[in-house]
Amino acid sequence: MLSYLEAIRIVLDTIRPLPPVEVALPLALGRVLAAPLSAAWDLPPADNSAMDGYAFAYSEQSAGDRLQVSGFVPAGSAGQPPTAAGQAVKIMTGASLPAGCDTVVPIEEVAEHDGQIQLKKEPKQGNHVRRRGEELTRGEPLLPAGTPIHSGELSLMAAAGIERVQVHPAPKVAVLSTGDELVELGDIPDPGQIVNSNFHLLSARLREEGCEVVPLGIARDTADDLSAKIEEGLNSDMLISTGGVSMGDRDHVQETLGRHGFEIGFWKAAIKPGKPVLFGTACGTPVFGLPGNPAASAATFELFARPALRLLAGHRDPLPPRMKVTLTEAISGGEKRQRFIWGVLEERHGRYFFAPSSRQGSGQNRSIQGAQALLPVDAGSDGICEGAEVEVLLLRMPPGRTI
Ligand code: AMP
Ligand code: MG
Repeated sequence: MLSYLEAIRIVLDTIRPLPPVEVALPLALGRVLAAPLSAAWDLPPADNSAMDGYAFAYSEQSAGDRLQVSGFVPAGSAGQPPTAAGQAVKIMTGASLPAGCDTVVPIEEVAEHDGQIQLKKEPKQGNHVRRRGEELTRGEPLLPAGTPIHSGELSLMAAAGIERVQVHPAPKVAVLSTGDELVELGDIPDPGQIVNSNFHLLSARLREEGCEVVPLGIARDTADDLSAKIEEGLNSDMLISTGGVSMGDRDHVQETLGRHGFEIGFWKAAIKPGKPVLFGTACGTPVFGLPGNPAASAATFELFARPALRLLAGHRDPLPPRMKVTLTEAISGGEKRQRFIWGVLEERHGRYFFAPSSRQGSGQNRSIQGAQALLPVDAGSDGICEGAEVEVLLLRMPPGRTI
């Protein structure tokens, strides 16, 4: 059976980013840049004042000198230059420097009376002037392809005059739940039936990742029902199903995918939870058959499907970030498969601790509730002691921390 690393390598080697689309700047939020950008113009576009103050030609002015105020330059105008030596113009932050001026003194550093200012301090030539092009010059590389676009990137691009950008689109992900025992939330389960909770987990997680969710509903455990839903799902950028991939008599997902040209990447990985996970492509669409047990389905989503989605979306770093933390309690050993332990991160005096969830059962939704990280424990490990420093896979930001 493949190890996690062998299996995820197959996923990473299979998936390519979605072809770029051009969008108006505001719609690029949360997407990844597909082509490098350069500045359309100089920024600032002209020398301008960094302070509310007075602008003049430097020419050896010193503390105590008096200058005649000959004009006023608000932001948005360049104003009239001072007409003679010994003159200054009042200038507001962001206003272009009138021709001939090269220095600004802030309002706080002058005494003003009777249309004159007196310099309280020795001015320095060029002080408080933002030079044309000091942030960007026209044609200068702005952002490389592969940059995730957040608010800071949007404001930089807007300032640089970029109205439309090439991005990888948000992946459209079809979610299929399989099982004769499932009912949708809102329907009263008969004896033996349970609510389709996996859909709510996956749909929420996909929305958190900025994907578009295409709900396919519940397929019963028959090849015909599965086949119809699979066909519909293959129109999306990815199909994720849950259930029906183990060894049971009613586990028909893999064989039904075969009707749709399924090319298998792998089936089963030596992990706990999530051993029966299935991955491949059908008609060029990546397909994940996740196990039905809620915590197994959630773990295999984080370990395999989320990295694949990040690759589709154009991210260059698809795997979950790792974080060094201290273990709050011992972990037992003696497992043949690599384990992934759900847990919560706690901050104490600037140090982060990982507290394993009290339930780890793959069939229990309780295992995933509140979990922020997964601790990988090697196959064949003798266990890990309380207080040991370990590396966890971060699923969401711990409180008060940004990375
Ligand atoms: P399976 O992988 O189909 O053998 O299902 C394994 C276990 O997961 C069974 O106990 C199922 O009832 C449960 N299960 C399967 N699909 C779902 C689902 N969509 N929501 C909640 N539990 C599920
Ligand atoms: Mg089933």
